[in-house]
Amino acid sequence: MKASSYLIPTTKDDPQDAVVASHKLMLRAGLVRKSSSGLYSYLPLGLRILKKIEGIVREEMDAASALEFQLPILTPSEIWKESGRWDKMGKEMFRLRDRHDSESCLGPTHEESFCVLVKPMVRSYKDLPINVYQIHTKFRDEIRPRFGVIRSREFTMKDAYSFHLDDDSLDRTYQKMRTTYRRIFARLGLTTIPVQADSGNMGGSASEEFMVVSPIGEETLTLCDSCGYSGNIEKTPVVVVKNPNPKKEEEAVVETPGQKSITDVANFLSIRPENCLKAVALSCDGKYVLVFLRGERELNENKLKNHLNTNELRPMSQTELTQVGLVAGFIGPGFVPSKDLLVLVDSLADWNEAYVSGANEFDKHKKGVVLSKYFKSDEVQVLDLSQSLPGDPCPNCNSPLKAEKGIEVGHIFKLGQKYSKAFDITVLNDKGKATTTTMGCYGIGINRCMATVIEQCNDDKGIYWPISIAPFEVCLVSIAKNPEDISKIEKIYSALKASGVEVLWDDRDLGPGFKFKDSELIGFPVRLTIGKGFLEKNEITILNRKTMEETTHNFTTEENFVTEVKALLENLRKELAAKLT
Ligand code: ATP
Ligand code: MG
Repeated sequence: MKASSYLIPTTKDDPQDAVVASHKLMLRAGLVRKSSSGLYSYLPLGLRILKKIEGIVREEMDAASALEFQLPILTPSEIWKESGRWDKMGKEMFRLRDRHDSESCLGPTHEESFCVLVKPMVRSYKDLPINVYQIHTKFRDEIRPRFGVIRSREFTMKDAYSFHLDDDSLDRTYQKMRTTYRRIFARLGLTTIPVQADSGNMGGSASEEFMVVSPIGEETLTLCDSCGYSGNIEKTPVVVVKNPNPKKEEEAVVETPGQKSITDVANFLSIRPENCLKAVALSCDGKYVLVFLRGERELNENKLKNHLNTNELRPMSQTELTQVGLVAGFIGPGFVPSKDLLVLVDSLADWNEAYVSGANEFDKHKKGVVLSKYFKSDEVQVLDLSQSLPGDPCPNCNSPLKAEKGIEVGHIFKLGQKYSKAFDITVLNDKGKATTTTMGCYGIGINRCMATVIEQCNDDKGIYWPISIAPFEVCLVSIAKNPEDISKIEKIYSALKASGVEVLWDDRDLGPGFKFKDSELIGFPVRLTIGKGFLEKNEITILNRKTMEETTHNFTTEENFVTEVKALLENLRKELAAKLT
């Protein structure tokens, strides 16, 4: 490809609304352009990268015996009602009505559609297992689209769904997908960690997210260096450890004017947050819930949602608090019980230790509050509801956990029978008995992968693409004006092309500095510079974009040179392949 007939709309300055490296660089390198909030157009260079990522995903899915489909993006409301998700998906779902007044949505995911499609095609256990997938557009009306294509409203996902006779079969496919995912990400040049995850809206039992450690990640991972445990903080169990500094004191009311938060109260009374009892009052799908936690802990909303099987959590309003007899900022054991209020206690809060808690009176707290004096342990549910903190014991081996931020690039779930039951997907087993199937589902965000690679592979000059997904493997920069020289370069270019090297020849009528900057910004893995030295003594400079190492080569024939370039590209491929093992 010649740059003179291509489109390379690079820009020098950082775009205004971009805050993360990948977003800035995708715009500056002319890979994408923003169309409107959370919507991006791919330009030719960007699209080449996206298609290469899709290609790798497709190759690996096919190698794992998954079958590619393509389903409509527009999905009828009926199937979502059948699974019970028409209401549950909430505002993230783009809904619309057609001219016949039928309701549909732009698919945010395709469990329902695939279930309806696959159901009549599987009748016997002999038809199973089957793993079906597509690489297609998804729509999600994200509350906060951000970081460019990392969280956009329209994106490409590889989504796969597997159907099985029993759990053993599901487990085999789940493990196969796990290996497939590791291969895919390694081939994309991404270093990922699979972490135990919450199953969220999808339902189901086991699930793992593939995370790329990055300071811009929106997820928090808990990692154990000792045994290799890795979890999403949403799911990480908190191991009960006794407070090393318990208090023993008589119960007494203290004046705490204006001191509402745990930090305020602990500072005011010169005590540790661990010696306080925190009360969190929430409305969970309209039900009122009060959770007591040890002062230094935050509530893990996911654990609470899963326990109550609810969707929406929000703090109770002033009116609601008053209605159930609670005093905002000063809640503690000893309030007048209300049948409308469910009380839960986090398992870290000691049942017999003395804490400082709210006194259920404005501007007052109480010292020496012991939970067992106020609640009967068989009447109040005690469970793990707190968020893990760095340094907490690992749930596997008790070594201290550390926390890192991560970007989720893929997710695998054991869905179980949630959808097979909703859509009544049964097959006859080997004894001729109708058996409900069980399912798995497996997603990868294609565009998010592209941006995440940039997050991992960039420097002050721009991007350096892994060879596997680079828009072109080689950028040939020529500095020549007269037709004779140009035809000499053309020979090199043609020889490279003929030997299967993907080369972009920057033959634009621009200065060398400009061309160098562009090639470094866009991030072609190898740059060949053909300047004066070539025309005089067959000298070509080769730059490795990642290391920025430059070497000069003399060659006798085009073939020699092509062989040299191919060997270099092969080395880059080998480096990447080494990550597969
Ligand atoms: P997140 O927690 O980041 O919103 P999710 O759990 O909703 O992700 P899944 O439903 O598991 O995501 O979707 C599978 C994959 O699709 C994700 O792992 C991610 O790579 C990608 N993805 C999800 N939402 C978006 C989005 N808004 N923009 C780009 N990619 C996305
Ligand atoms: Mg989401």
